[in-house]
Amino acid sequence: MSQSFILKVQNLKVVFLLAMAISVIPSYALNAGVSKKLKALIIDGQNHHVVWPKSTIMLKQYLEETGQFTVDIARTKYLYHSTAFQDWLPFAGVQEGIETAPKTDPNFNPDFFKYDVVISNLGYKAAPWPEQTQRNFEAYMKNGGGFVSVHSANNCFANWNAYNQMIAIGGWGGRTDKNGVYLYVDAHNKVVKDSAAGIVGAHGKREPFLVTLYNTTHPVTLHMPKKWMHAKDECYAYLRGPAENVSVLATSVSVKKNPELQHKEPVVMAIDYYKGRVFHTTLGHDTESLECVGFITLFKRGTEWAATGNVKRNKMPKDFPSKNKVSKRTFVYEP
Ligand SMILES: [Zn+2]
Repeated sequence: MSQSFILKVQNLKVVFLLAMAISVIPSYALNAGVSKKLKALIIDGQNHHVVWPKSTIMLKQYLEETGQFTVDIARTKYLYHSTAFQDWLPFAGVQEGIETAPKTDPNFNPDFFKYDVVISNLGYKAAPWPEQTQRNFEAYMKNGGGFVSVHSANNCFANWNAYNQMIAIGGWGGRTDKNGVYLYVDAHNKVVKDSAAGIVGAHGKREPFLVTLYNTTHPVTLHMPKKWMHAKDECYAYLRGPAENVSVLATSVSVKKNPELQHKEPVVMAIDYYKGRVFHTTLGHDTESLECVGFITLFKRGTEWAATGNVKRNKMPKDFPSKNKVSKRTFVYEP
């Protein structure tokens, strides 16, 4: 046997052993150092806020532009108030729906466990989910899931107790003072849970209003200016619910209350639900509100916190609003 043949055989042996070694290294070890994107799911389809087909795309793009998220959309088959912004419907890349009065889609059953965070762009009058889907979502949240409730997502599902626990407080949609306490911040800056009878859900006309941080050390609000002017929006007031395990992160003053009382409404909250985390903002009525750099910053941070319990990208954008001046970014769709 020639010397060179023996060398070749030995080389082949080395190659074979190397191949064997690589094949038993687990895939997570090979991926070490490669940052994995967070998986987000936006749910929509039924919302009396007619902008929803567009606002879903805005929320999706805000998350994608961070470079931290991949975003899917799950849409109910039956659509409510989808026609005014119907040109935006196909951008979601989901099945075509049927415009009708709000009704339960019996096949709406996203695989929540595939996602780090679920964002609701459902709203007032959204029909209840099938029972099993509700139970699946509760299990997902109890096991450490993330949820984000934007604006009128706190208007729906008044009779779903677990949902009310997740969002802490809500308004309208059949809610009464039997749904829980009215949560607000009083003149002494104390959080009040008021169980006296009263209305559930109110807002004044749309206008720019001041947002004041209540908690400056939470990952969502850390390094954010204490006061900033939010673009034209509705300031929700008199929201009620179980209000358990809720941290008020920011407040605004509603024109629906006597200014002498110096009461403040929670507009940004963080809620613990079993092992899960909920980021809840009452801001975000329409395009103009969603173009506010304050909203965009809060939404990105809040979604990351709901997904992971932390916020890594917390550098303040240069165009963040001041306490006197609104700052907006005109939305440009980037397919
Ligand atoms: Zn609204």
